[in-house]
Amino acid sequence: DARAGDDLVIEGLTKTFVGLTATDDLSFVIRAGHVTGLIGPNGAGKSTLVNMLTGQYAPTSGSMRYGSVDLNAVAAHGIAGLGIARTFQNIRLFHRLTVRENVLVAAQAAGHRGAAAEAVALRELAAMGLSAMASAEASSLSYGARRKVEIARCLATDPAILLLDEPAAGMNPDETRELGAQLRRIAEERGIGLLLIEHDLEFVNALCGHIIVLNRGKKIAEGTPAEIGGHPAVIEAYMGR
Ligand code: ADP
Ligand code: MG
Repeated sequence: DARAGDDLVIEGLTKTFVGLTATDDLSFVIRAGHVTGLIGPNGAGKSTLVNMLTGQYAPTSGSMRYGSVDLNAVAAHGIAGLGIARTFQNIRLFHRLTVRENVLVAAQAAGHRGAAAEAVALRELAAMGLSAMASAEASSLSYGARRKVEIARCLATDPAILLLDEPAAGMNPDETRELGAQLRRIAEERGIGLLLIEHDLEFVNALCGHIIVLNRGKKIAEGTPAEIGGHPAVIEAYMGR
């Protein structure tokens, strides 16, 4: 069984594609109620990891456990049903629907009906600072605001674990700062375990007490912002390209 408040535990997770090891023996924990950062250069294996956690890719070896549930044995729709939700590196919205309707559709897909679904949509729009744009067509929003709609859609499904693949990509500094505050509040108030994948080290450092660093599929460091900031392998991975 698994429920909100459980950690997601990754052990020895490896994914090989033909001629390439995308993730190599990864082990770490996504803790409930915390924001865990996952950083690393392009091609490090970050999105591949998310694709395994959500059942899009089958791991080559290793385990993923959520509470007492072995995720290797659960299909993608079952993983979503356990409350493990994700955003994508590329935004996926209904462009001709309003912002409110986009989030409402997600609330309905999660089983909310009628006025309850409307209430969920309004709550998640507020959580992401989108209330003033509720009636705007999604396509009319800035790129950063559309990213926030995508997160609101995820929140409307009542996730217990939320995997965010580069949510601040394309956001301006104000949007990024707001996003940080919103994500921190969501993790703390709802006890959601957040995995934040980002390129922007400053953003990750400000938001995450615990950070995992990948390079070429391998975990090269793990720890607090101070611990990883001074780590020689991290400096080399980021500067030595
Ligand atoms: P990141 O998200 O850290 O930039 P990815 O997880 O997208 O990295 O990619 C890690 C490596 O795995 C890259 O070399 C990428 O080309 C490769 N890769 C990812 N998905 C596939 C796939 N479906 N088939 C073959 N190679 C893939
Ligand atoms: Mg990626």
